[in-house]
Amino acid sequence: MEKNCLTKPSKRPVAWGEIKLLLLDCDGVLTDGRIIYGEARQELKHFHGHDGMGFLLLKYTEMQTGVITGRKSEALERRCSDLHIQHLHQGVHNKLQCLDELLAKLNLDYRHVVYMGDDWNDVPVMRKVAFSATPADAQPDVQKIADWVAEHNGGHGAVRDLINHILVHKGIYEKTVKLYLEDIC
Ligand SMILES: [Mg+2]
Repeated sequence: MEKNCLTKPSKRPVAWGEIKLLLLDCDGVLTDGRIIYGEARQELKHFHGHDGMGFLLLKYTEMQTGVITGRKSEALERRCSDLHIQHLHQGVHNKLQCLDELLAKLNLDYRHVVYMGDDWNDVPVMRKVAFSATPADAQPDVQKIADWVAEHNGGHGAVRDLINHILVHKGIYEKTVKLYLEDIC
């Protein structure tokens, strides 16, 4: 761990045009953090429709999406498949190492990445990427390290807040919504 891992890193202003990859933690970000243990080792999770619509909007952009999580669940696998999330990494102990390997594979750099996490296991990645975000109910000390705090809690629209933020700052929000509406009208 870096000595200054507990402090907010100084970063260059975000070049939003260069942002190409949205990565997320699962528990506490895509979900409210609760994990329901069912029979036969089944795990149930709550996801939010507003986040889902955000991913559908991203299909009309050149952004890639992914999830890096320490746990493993079939529910998340199904959710990622439904939302066309391209990069799913489950059972990850070292998220920064996972990110480095993914970036090497995609020929991308930290400057291309937005990441949302809610707890200490996300902080090494949050410190490195171009723009780090966190839900409104993330751990308070993690919020201090993040570049941006969403209006909503994890599992209650925090990811949609972030997707809207990215689209607005890229200057493609209206164009993207229009493309989506043209497709369904
Ligand atoms: Mg988490």
